[in-house]
Amino acid sequence: MNSGERIQRLRERLGEISDVGSALSLLHWDQQTHMPPKGAEGRGRQIATLSAIRHRLFVSREIADLIAPLREELDRLSDGDRKLVEATAYDYDRAVKLPEKFVQDLAQTESEAFEAWVDARRNSDFPAFSPHLEKLVTLQREKADLLGYEGDRYNALLETFERGMTVEKVASVFEVVGQEQGRLVKSICEAEQPHLPWLDQVWPSENQWDFGMKILADIGYDLEAGRQDHSEHPFSTDFDIFDVRITTRVHEDDLFSALMSTLHEAGHALYEQGFLKEDARTPLAEAPSLGIHESQSRLWENMIGRSLPFWEHYLPDLQAAFPGQLDDLSARDVYRAINQVRRSLIRVEADECTYNLHVILRFELERAMLSGDLAVADLPGAWNEKMRQLLGVEVPDDAHGCLQDVHWSSACFGYFPTYALGNLYSAQLFERILEEIPDFWGSISEGDFTVLLGWLRHKVHRIGRRMTTPEIVRTATGADLDSGPYLKYLNSKYKPLYGLS
Ligand code: ZN
Repeated sequence: MNSGERIQRLRERLGEISDVGSALSLLHWDQQTHMPPKGAEGRGRQIATLSAIRHRLFVSREIADLIAPLREELDRLSDGDRKLVEATAYDYDRAVKLPEKFVQDLAQTESEAFEAWVDARRNSDFPAFSPHLEKLVTLQREKADLLGYEGDRYNALLETFERGMTVEKVASVFEVVGQEQGRLVKSICEAEQPHLPWLDQVWPSENQWDFGMKILADIGYDLEAGRQDHSEHPFSTDFDIFDVRITTRVHEDDLFSALMSTLHEAGHALYEQGFLKEDARTPLAEAPSLGIHESQSRLWENMIGRSLPFWEHYLPDLQAAFPGQLDDLSARDVYRAINQVRRSLIRVEADECTYNLHVILRFELERAMLSGDLAVADLPGAWNEKMRQLLGVEVPDDAHGCLQDVHWSSACFGYFPTYALGNLYSAQLFERILEEIPDFWGSISEGDFTVLLGWLRHKVHRIGRRMTTPEIVRTATGADLDSGPYLKYLNSKYKPLYGLS
C-alpha cells in the first residue's frame, strides 16, 4: 500500500468512527430533549454499547497499522493529510494509554458517583457524596499517571480539554485575573445599584422563543442545518457540519436568561457550522480545545449580546415581541439591565464580572484535591472559605456550594479552567476584531453581523484542528494567552455603568 492508499483507507475508517460518534451524539441529544422517562435505562445501555464500539474501532490494529508508516512519511503528504495524520496520531497515542479495564472502572465509578451526586445535591448532603468523590480523585491520579505528564500531575488532566496548556500558565494568569476582578467587583458592589422595577413582569414563553429564533436567523445560524429545542440544561451538539443543534430553557420570570443562553449556544453552533466541508467525518472538523470553543460562545453572548449597539438595533423588535410591556424603555435601559453585577453563589448564573472568580475557586480546589493538599472530606469548609475571600458571600448549604456543579461527579477534572480561558481568548479576539473591522459597531447597530461572522469563520472556524489553540490565538491576534484584553474590556464597560472612575 502506498501513502495515498493508506490515507484513503484511514479516511474511510475515521469516517465510520465519526458516524458512530454522530449516532451517539444524537442519542444524547434525544435523551435531553424528547426521550420519555422510562426510556432512560435502555438509553444508558445503548450509549454504553456504542461508546465501546467506537473506542474499539479507534484503538484497533488496523488504525495502528495505518498511522505507524504515515508518521514516517509526513513530509511527503499534502498539508491537509499531514494535519489529519497528526491529529489522529495524537488521539490514538492518548487513547491506547488507558487500558480497557481502567476505562470500564472509571465509567462504573463515574455513573455511581453521578447518581450519588444527584441525591446529595437534592438533600444538600455532602457526606453521602464524599466517598464517591474520594474514589474519583484516586482514579484521576491514576489516569494522569497512565497518560503521563511533565511537571505537575494536573497537567495530564488539563491536556484532555486544553491541549498544550499548563497549570503554571493558568495559575499565573488566574492570579492577576483574580486580583483585578475581585477589586472591580468590590467597587461595583459598593457603588449605587440600578433600580429596575420593569424587569418584574411575566414574559410569555412563546414570545421569548420567537424573539430568540429571529435573532438566531439574523446572526447567521443556518436553520436548515440546525434547530433549537427545549432542554433542562442548554447545550449545543453536532452530528455533521450540516446538522448542528442547540437547546435553551425558558423562564417566564426572566426576560433575558433564555435569550442569552440562545446566543451562547449559537456561538458554539456557528463555530461547528463553519468547519471545512472537506474535513467532515474526520477529527479535523473539531475545535482544538474547549477554551477556544467557549471563546466563540462568550463572544456572541457577552461582547455582542450585552452591548449597547446590539440593543439599539433590537429594541424595536423586543418591544414588538412583548406588546405593551416595554413601551417607555430605551436601549440604554436594556443595556443597564442586562449588565447587572451581583455577588452570587451559583456559577452558571454569574455575570461577566464575577464569573471567572467562580472558576478560579474550582481550579484551586481541584488542584489541591488532586495533589492531596486538600482532603476530600474537608472540601465544603475550603469551598465556603474561598467563596468568602473571592466573592464575599456566605454559603448557606452545600447544595449552593461545593455540590452545585456536575463536573466532579462526571470525573471532569481539569475542565473548569477552560471556561475562564474562553473568556480571556474571546476578549483577545474581540480586541483584534475592533481593530480590523472598520465601523464595527456601526454595522452591529444596523443588525449586520456578516462581517463579524466572516472574520470568525476565516480566523477560527474553518481551521478546525488544523492548528492548536495557542497557534490560532497567536495567528489571529499576534499574542499568546493574555488576561490584559479581558480586564481592559471589563473595566471600560463596567466602570462607566456603575459611575466609577
Ligand atoms: Zn459554552
